[in-house]
This record gives sequence, structure tokens and C-alpha cells, in this order.
Amino acid sequence: MNQTTVLIIGAGPVGLTLACEIARRNIPYRIVERSALPPHGSRAKALQPRSLEILNDLGIAETLMPLGYTELPYRKFNGNQLIGETPRNVFPREDTRYPKILLLPQYKVEEALRTKLSELGGTVEWATELIDFSQTDTGITCRLENPNWTEELTCTYMVACDGGKSTTRKKLGINFVGETHQHEQLWVGDVEVEGLKPDAWYNWLSPKYGIACALFPFKDSNSWQLQAVMLPDADGNIPEPTLEGFNQLFKDRTQMEGITFTNSTWQSIYRVNIRRADRYRVGNAFIAGDVAHLHSIAGGMGMNTGIQDAYNLGWKLAAVINGEANDSLLDTFAEERIPIADWLLKTTSENQRIMLNAATAGKGAFETLSTKDTTQLNLNYRDSSLSEKSNATQSDLQTGNRAPDVHLNDGTWLSDQLRGTEWGLLIFGKAEIEATKNLKIINAADEALHKAYGLSDGLVLIRPDGYIALIASDWAEVHKYFDKFR
Ligand SMILES: Cc1cc2nc3c(=O)[nH]c(=O)nc-3n(C[C@H](O)[C@H](O)[C@H](O)COP(=O)(O)OP(=O)(O)OC[C@H]3O[C@@H](n4cnc5c(N)ncnc54)[C@H](O)[C@@H]3O)c2cc1C
Repeated sequence: MNQTTVLIIGAGPVGLTLACEIARRNIPYRIVERSALPPHGSRAKALQPRSLEILNDLGIAETLMPLGYTELPYRKFNGNQLIGETPRNVFPREDTRYPKILLLPQYKVEEALRTKLSELGGTVEWATELIDFSQTDTGITCRLENPNWTEELTCTYMVACDGGKSTTRKKLGINFVGETHQHEQLWVGDVEVEGLKPDAWYNWLSPKYGIACALFPFKDSNSWQLQAVMLPDADGNIPEPTLEGFNQLFKDRTQMEGITFTNSTWQSIYRVNIRRADRYRVGNAFIAGDVAHLHSIAGGMGMNTGIQDAYNLGWKLAAVINGEANDSLLDTFAEERIPIADWLLKTTSENQRIMLNAATAGKGAFETLSTKDTTQLNLNYRDSSLSEKSNATQSDLQTGNRAPDVHLNDGTWLSDQLRGTEWGLLIFGKAEIEATKNLKIINAADEALHKAYGLSDGLVLIRPDGYIALIASDWAEVHKYFDKFR
């Protein structure tokens, strides 16, 4: 029987991020995807600053930056009357090289991740579906089906990244707790637009629908994403979206002259689900991304949170597989990511309510969704068992915080030095330097580092996923921290 160490189910943004994380640590893996071809619908159209930092660690953020917009304002209409334009919110901060959201379609993110995976020597196995599996104490036996063959495969770990409708989650017996809001449905799709300048996010507000229609342009193409709130009938049904339907809806709801949609390459119905899995792990099987949490798309955080799930799990799996940590490290995946999912469900539901209230009142819409917190830079693992409690530094840094990035005096960033799969150790002051496997030691002599970290003496241990594990005064504390895992 064929064997691998990690089997990843699904090649959406989450499965692909995890595959890159595993591949760059030289762990044997396979990634299988039921679809025969990559998806072409735009779906998520925003990378949040925290995800951009992760993609920078993977070496692909700089490829993506020129492919999207960061500055599009919000242009609002009531019917055919322009009622205002609001600039995009920015939350200037010095501790990141990516303070702004990047607006681009999800397929461009997936394409960049697939290119990275192929540079790492890997590839997605298309048209290959996980059909069944059974788990024993030593591993998981899976049945994979492709149009041309069936394969029995054993793997040590399986990670289900197979999306919101995951069948793996059900087979694992994980409950997906929450609700479906049958009354909240949208038409979504991609269209080409004639008659509008692609220099804003356009939104037609209405007391009846809230979002009567919204159009979001993508850079260097004539492709736009369309969204429109639909009102379901008594049975909870709405008509199937079509290009003709999009044109008719726009004409009826906006009365705008001279604007036409053509060449619709994707149409879908989006129903609001607010759900979270009650567990993220069953034996050696894990779930990540939409399998684990579904919520309103208001605020643009589903793909982003899934990418961050994968980034949290990847290094932990590798550490356990390589014998550098014991199995309990894997329990910290759920310990750390479930509170983030709870925050996500709450925040996106509140944001959606605020947005729809503003839209039905004719006051605004998408500008209400972007806040300091939706950048996801402030998310932290302060309560995690991996965050060794200590006093905050002079700049109020605590363990569990995301390690602030710092623009150094030589023009580079701290993240340039930390890039890669190792832990980081910043050494402030005169502490001696000990060479240690998988630990990148950075002599923190730069004044900008002192200021950002609020330390002139001591050691700051940074996890491979960029969070502060420990603020220590000597090496003994660092060794003691690592001993916890072994
Ligand atoms: C209109 C719209 C707008 C959105 N806007 C945003 C936004 O602005 N920002 C944001 O962050 N998110 C947004 N989202 C959400 C985002 O698209 C999802 O959160 C994201 O796709 C989740 O990624 P994933 O990898 O978990 O799952 P998916 O992208 O759903 O990928 C799962 C993959 O698993 C495959 N699969 C399923 N079952 C099997 C099986 N048995 N065997 C093998 N393969 C299988 C599927 O074919 C699929 O390719 C939006 C979504 C929609 C619909």
C-alpha cells in the first residue's frame, strides 16, 4: 500500500498554504483536490495585512502586491444618484511592511501558492477525491479516487482543508455548530463591465435591499465581482443567477444608463452560515479553514483566517514529525485557533449588521467593515499554553503577541532576517550567543529594535509563525522553554 506522512485534502488557499509549509520543511506529503482544474471564481477579494506577512515569509507577497489594488475608494449611489465617496480606511502603523489590505481575486492568491509549491518540488493532484478513510492508533488509511484509478493510501496525519461543505468533517464526527441564515442570501459572480471606470468599489444602497448591487473591479483586467442582496421566497429560495439576471437586476435597481455586463465567467448563490466546528482534531486528523469555521463574508476574513490556521498548524506538525516536539504540541492548534474563530464569527456578524443598517439607512456600506482589528495584526495567543507568562516590556510587548516587524536602520526589515522555517531569538544587550539547532539568532543591536521591543537587555524567542513565545533574561529560560515540548 502507498504511504505518505501528511495527506492534505483540498487545494484551496488553506490546503495550498499548508502544503507549502510542509514542503519547505521537507516532510513527505501529498495534496489531493477533487476538481479537475483550479477554480476561476473570484470569491475572496482581499488579503489582510497579517496574511500578507505570512505570504512574505513564504516569499510570495512581493509577487502579489503589484497584482492588486490598495487604494480604491468607496463610491456610493442611491439609484442613479451619486451620494458620496469615502476614501479607503488605512491604519498606519510602523510595525508591519504591509499596513494596507490588498484587493485581488482569490484565484491569484491560489495561483501564487501553487507556483511556490512547484518551486518547492510539489504539485497538486487534480481530479483526485478522498472517498473514505479509517483511523487506527498508528495512522489513517484513505481511499482516493481519480477518473482513471483508485488508490489505498496510508498516512500518519491527515489535514482536511476541504471547505465549508466538507464531507471529511462529517466522517470525523465533528459537529459544525451554529446556524444558516436562510433569509440572508446574495447573488455573486464575475462579469465584465462596460460603462464604469475601475477606480472605486461601487455600491448602490437601498432601504429595501441594503446592498442593492455592489461592483468591485480587479486590476489589469476588465473583470469585476458583483454582489447583490436577494430576498428569498417563503420557502427560502432565490432564482439561479445568470448574466441576463445580473443585467436585469442592475437596470431595475439602479436605473443607471449606459452600463452593461458581459462575459460572466462565474455565478453563484452565497448563503450566510455562522458555524464553528466543536473540535479541530480527532486522533491524527485535523481540520483547517472553512471546514472549521464559516461566517459572513462581510469584512473579508474567511480565506485570511484559513491561511492563518494553516500557518499555525504547519510548523507544529513538522516539529512533531521530526521528533523535535511531543504530540501535545498538536493540541495547541485547536487551543490557539478556536478562540480566533470565535472572535471571527462574532466580529463578522456584528460588522455585517452594522453594514446593513448603514446601507438600508442610505449612509454607507463597505467602509464600515474595515477596522484596526480586521487587519488581523492584533490577533494574539496571549492565553496559549505556548506563551510563557512574563512581565510586559517597556513598549508593552507581551508573550503571545505577534512579533512586531521593524524597519531597521540599514533599510531592511526584521522579517527579512526571520524569513524561513526556524525559530528566531533576538538577543538584546550582552547575553552570550549559543548556537542551537533550528534557532536563528539575531543580535538585536539596531536602535529601532530596542525601541519597538522596549528592551535593552534580554532575549525574545519568536515562534516559526511569528508570535512571541518567551521574553527571557537568560539562556536557561530558553532551554527550559524548549524542554516543555520534548
Ligand atoms: C463571494 C465570496 C466572497 C468572499 N470574500 C472573501 C474575502 O474578501 N476575504 C476572505 O478572506 N474570504 C472571503 N471569502 C471566503 C473564502 O472564499 C473562503 O473562506 C476560502 O475559499 C476558504 O478556503 P479553504 O481552502 O478553506 O476552502 P475552499 O476554498 O472551499 O477549498 C476547498 C477545496 O477542497 C476541495 N475538496 C472538497 N472535498 C474534497 C475531497 N473529498 N477530496 C479532495 N478535494 C476536496 C474542493 O474542491 C475545494 O477546492 C469569500 C467567499 C465568497 C463565496
